[in-house]
Amino acid sequence: MPPEPYDHLDGDRVVLLALAETTATDAERVHLGRCDVCVDDLTSTAAVVTLGRDAPRLDELPPPPPRVWLSITRSIQGTAPAPPPSPRRLLPRIAALLIAFALGAGTALLFATWAR
Ligand SMILES: [Zn+2]
Repeated sequence: MPPEPYDHLDGDRVVLLALAETTATDAERVHLGRCDVCVDDLTSTAAVVTLGRDAPRLDELPPPPPRVWLSITRSIQGTAPAPPPSPRRLLPRIAALLIAFALGAGTALLFATWAR
């Protein structure tokens, strides 16, 4: 339905006009000639359309670094990556490894002695 001279253009029509998907009807042209509100809406919507068309395509953007991508996928899956352990938290693990190695070497030495 064409707008009355003092009815504003429908928002969908403003978007279609900004996208150049359609041309303004005679009534819309008359209204745009008289209404600063609709001209402002059309101008600002057309500016957004221009920005969108000038923006780089998503498939043309460079890929993120692997660690960033890994962090993104983990956060999407709900398992946020654990922060790297601090050196202080590593000490008990290193001590446990050394004790295990010493016990393993001691056991091997014991078996080697008994096997003779
Ligand atoms: Zn208007």
